[in-house]
Amino acid sequence: MKACRILLVEDNPDNFELIRFLLEREGYQVLEARDGSQGLRMARSERPDLVLMDLSLPQVDGWSAATQLKADPQTAGIPLVAITAHTLPGDRKRALESGFDGYISKPINVTSLNETVKKALEGK
Ligand SMILES: [Mg+2]
Repeated sequence: MKACRILLVEDNPDNFELIRFLLEREGYQVLEARDGSQGLRMARSERPDLVLMDLSLPQVDGWSAATQLKADPQTAGIPLVAITAHTLPGDRKRALESGFDGYISKPINVTSLNETVKKALEGK
């Protein structure tokens, strides 16, 4: 079976490397974007199986990038999962309203990351 391709959009290098490590350990192929506009470009050109996206990002923030991806018929079908430290009440609702299908909070919990990714890929 071909490895699922996950586009990881994260500007913090430490978070990026940790999440990449955890995803690759599960057998996923990780595509890399470091800001929101690069994330949008890569989602359109690479058509990954899943986009995992930080919310606080340079250029285009995660909320706005999610709205743009869901509004574009070319990318609307790609599952979108937010990775974020924004865990105040209302943040989850705001992320889901922006177009995210799921939500992982920082600090990263390995079990919940794996479960959320698996569920999002299956729900595709
Ligand atoms: Mg960030």
